[in-house]
Amino acid sequence: MIYLDNAATTKPCRECVEAVSAAMNDCYGNASSLHKMGTVSINLISRAKQAVLKGLALGNPPLEGEVIFTSGATESNNTALFGANLRKGKIVTTAMEHPSVARVIDKLEEKGSEVVRLAPKNYSDFEGALIDSVDEKTSLVSCMAVNNETGFAVDVKRLYKGVKVKNPRTLVHIDAVQGFLKIPLDGDLISVSGHKIHASKGIGALYIKKGVTVSPLLFGGGQQKNLRSGTEAVELIAGFEAAINAYRYDYEYFSALKEKLLAELVKIKDISINSGEKCLPNIVNFSVRGVRSENMLHSLEQYDICVSSGSACSKGKTSKVLAAFGVSDKDADSAVRVSLCHNNNEEEIAFLCEKITETVKRIRR
Ligand code: PMP
Repeated sequence: MIYLDNAATTKPCRECVEAVSAAMNDCYGNASSLHKMGTVSINLISRAKQAVLKGLALGNPPLEGEVIFTSGATESNNTALFGANLRKGKIVTTAMEHPSVARVIDKLEEKGSEVVRLAPKNYSDFEGALIDSVDEKTSLVSCMAVNNETGFAVDVKRLYKGVKVKNPRTLVHIDAVQGFLKIPLDGDLISVSGHKIHASKGIGALYIKKGVTVSPLLFGGGQQKNLRSGTEAVELIAGFEAAINAYRYDYEYFSALKEKLLAELVKIKDISINSGEKCLPNIVNFSVRGVRSENMLHSLEQYDICVSSGSACSKGKTSKVLAAFGVSDKDADSAVRVSLCHNNNEEEIAFLCEKITETVKRIRR
């Protein structure tokens, strides 16, 4: 199998699988139990929190604040946005957000918040435009770190600083699912997900900066300082920690693979590349005119190649997110996303290019 759909999900790494298995055998105590086994679980969770804090900062001093473990980034985003105790006011966000942010902001808009949505296609300096939109009424800025469909990356640290200069009371939420461990992050609330970094599905985290208060989404036993009730998934948390510690993002390696892929793709007539220069090199989105995404996908599938049309979450629906990057509806209908991880290599890219070229010839004949 040539798996090139790592923005949808990743294969759990060996370190994660071993840590989950070890925790299932040895750390099965409930973290709320007062006996020794409870303490073992509490210690494991504390260690994993430190790994998340360190991972968010990526080489800079670890961020300060609280980390709560969740079922994934959808829950983290919902908790952050519904729980942020927003004063009614203006929300500044983008037209490229994942539905787990976009739909929540739609709800907040229905409840009376004014919402401004900026599309990257309209600005050469996107961070600057977001910062400029903040005024004294702005209660929240929510912006993803890296777009899941194109790889477009935001300078999150600059955004955070700039917003705070404009209005120190504005909260900044970052959906960092595709940016975690790839770019340095900062924010008042940051959402991450395990299954995008070679941990398992069903585990994520929400970072809450020191001094920021959030109301819980889930009520019950009061676990995790009353911020997220429910028995902690110790085994999945162990796997998450192991995957964070094992993760390496090699920008040069992905750039070389992207270059190789683009060098072949540009030979195809009527192709447009939807991942521009501000995009991280592990995600490459392109449209071959006249070849619908699903036809390309199923053709490549016959050779055991897994790629995606836009994002897996949009399940075949034409991506509105691509429009935010200036991609026409017609091109969005032909969009293919190749998303890489460190397990991919040049031979796989060469084979992919060969099969894409064959498919285009066959369908356009
Ligand atoms: N945000 C982004 C940018 C994503 O790519 C995804 C997953 N496709 C999510 C949020 C949702 O994450 P999860 O699957 O952990 O709920």
